Amino acid sequence: MRRSTFMAGSLALAAAVALGGRRKEGQAMATPTHFEFALSDAQWRARLTPEQYAVLREHATEPPWSSPLEKENRPGTYSCAGCDLPVFSSATKFHSGTGWPSFWQPLPDAVATSVDTSWMETRTEVHCRRCGGHLGHVFDDGPPPTGLRYCINGVALVFHPASTAT
Ligand SMILES: [Zn+2]
Repeated sequence: MRRSTFMAGSLALAAAVALGGRRKEGQAMATPTHFEFALSDAQWRARLTPEQYAVLREHATEPPWSSPLEKENRPGTYSCAGCDLPVFSSATKFHSGTGWPSFWQPLPDAVATSVDTSWMETRTEVHCRRCGGHLGHVFDDGPPPTGLRYCINGVALVFHPASTAT
């Protein structure tokens, strides 16, 4: 009993660290539930398309090569489709050949991560820092300078070309 309590506390602490040090006592789940931009489930369903809802709120993965943003090469900013927080810059985008928009670095203070064990392997899940919307995963087989590959669902992003951004 004492051991399991300790384990739960460790998980909560790990989640809190991933969230930038905001620790929540008594919360054993690794998935945080409180975000700066929070809506009810009904509000999310009204705000998002079914495809966006499935990815952002239910951690679905879009089919590879399904997003036009995979081929997007213009300079600009990619924002979270849930709350419009800018999360990636075109300056860090690259073509990974996986069929999903890929980046080697997020914008500062834009995303947070959690451990995802839903597949046969343990992956690092990436979500929007502000609304908690699931964006994709990060892997350590990316290009320099970070060596990271943020594999992001295009449906979870909205692209704002630099020419129209003010
Ligand atoms: Zn968001």
